[in-house]
Amino acid sequence: MSGKILEVAELIYESDMTVALSGAGMSTESGIADFRTPGTGLWEKIDPMEFGSIDSFLTGFDMGKMIDLLKTIDISSFMGAKPNDGHKALAELERVGLLKCMITQNIDMLHSVAGNKDVIELHGSFRTSSCMNCGKEMTTGKFIGKVIRTGKIPPICECGGIIKPDVVFFGETLPLDALSRSTEYAERCDLMIVVGSSLVVYPAASLPPIAKQNGAKLVIINMEPTPYDSMADIVIHGKCGEVLPEIVKELESLI
Ligand code: NAD
Repeated sequence: MSGKILEVAELIYESDMTVALSGAGMSTESGIADFRTPGTGLWEKIDPMEFGSIDSFLTGFDMGKMIDLLKTIDISSFMGAKPNDGHKALAELERVGLLKCMITQNIDMLHSVAGNKDVIELHGSFRTSSCMNCGKEMTTGKFIGKVIRTGKIPPICECGGIIKPDVVFFGETLPLDALSRSTEYAERCDLMIVVGSSLVVYPAASLPPIAKQNGAKLVIINMEPTPYDSMADIVIHGKCGEVLPEIVKELESLI
């Protein structure tokens, strides 16, 4: 693996514009389960259509089932999660000018907490919740407080509208600005590094082929194979929290 780490470091060093695309695997070492890892992935515990789709959210969750679910997925590990060494390595790359932009499918805000300044949150974030009618925004902490007080999901705004976390549910479109900015970066970059994503959720998974078709090199760092491994210039099957700091270490010796 060390040969590949050096090769990735050299690609970053030679690149004029590197962008990274992260998925849920980026945060498993921070204690947040991803969706699809066998044994620990959330989709083995949650029916995505029951708790992940906009239609089911708007119809109202079954609170009994929701409470049982919260017991099994340990929500406190999400709320208390901290950036891991992989997040810190990506923040360091941006700090020294070697990473232009961090595109993420994650809603956990850990790239921003780690220090990345230009983060495109393709699926929104857990930072805020908004009324779908009047647009009034509140922290998601306040949203949760309202749910606990009323015992209902979704909670209702003073205007009568439904309050929803500002994350993208199945069946919703992605925020237009995030999608157009990330597509533009995919078209303009000369190196895209994918970290911790199964690359099966679209349109995020269309960004690596867009980058490749526009002449960029593609690096994939993931524990398991992805559908785009054969298209990539370098594939490393390893943990983000181990591989990314090693790449940064190699770069320090190149700079
Ligand atoms: P995914 O669950 O489909 O894939 C995660 C991939 O990461 C898997 O292929 C797995 O092998 C790999 N992986 C797990 N731990 C890893 C590690 N430590 N190092 C390297 N690879 C690792 O997730 P996805 O591709 O992001 O797509 C699905 C959706 O998951 C997205 O819509 C995202 O919004 C949502 N999601 C986000 C979070 C979060 O915010 N942390 C958590 C769960 C799901």
